[in-house]
Amino acid sequence: MKFQTILLFGAPGSGKGTQGKVLGALPGFFHCSCGEVFRSLKMDSPLGRVFVEYSSRGELVPDEPTIELWRQFITNCRKSGQYDPANDMLVLDGIPRNLRQAELLQDSLDVRAVIYLTCADPEKLVQRLQRRALKENRLDDANLDTIRRRLETYERESRPVLDFYGRDLLHEVDATQRPIDVLRDVVEIVRQL
Ligand code: ADP
Repeated sequence: MKFQTILLFGAPGSGKGTQGKVLGALPGFFHCSCGEVFRSLKMDSPLGRVFVEYSSRGELVPDEPTIELWRQFITNCRKSGQYDPANDMLVLDGIPRNLRQAELLQDSLDVRAVIYLTCADPEKLVQRLQRRALKENRLDDANLDTIRRRLETYERESRPVLDFYGRDLLHEVDATQRPIDVLRDVVEIVRQL
């Protein structure tokens, strides 16, 4: 079975998590943030250690363990009744994050829309990530070098995923608006699906 899916896409700091959480609070939607799934691991478990190693360098965790972890997470959420694929739209944030992951997930996802949160000014993203570092205790936001490497990783590895899904599914939203205005645009897209 393929999961009906909306992909939230955009650079680190573009607000995928903020928008995903709001959508996921509505009946009929289930939000899954891959970064949060990683952060919920015990940091002294084997995969937790791999996550700390890669994320603190601003790099992506290798694809196979990432997809495996994601599949386990979804299976557990289905078993516990939090996610019901027959009725819920899956709102994915942070996955797939490169072409290989998009290919590996091809048999599991029926992607209905890619909502691309755009930001023309990378310095704005840097500022947002630095602000987040103060509020949430995140290793990968902790210093400027790591933040810049994350933005480079995004440009090099993640952005090509947009072409993978193609123009017909793509919806752009200006992520530099106030979060409430971003939400208005996102809701309008989702409403029409
Ligand atoms: P952000 O989008 O702000 O970078 P996330 O919470 O989505 O934050 O991700 C934090 C880190 O977790 C990433 O920098 C990466 O190391 C790891 N990560 C998250 N999702 C994936 C993924 N799909 N594939 C590989 N690594 C991932």
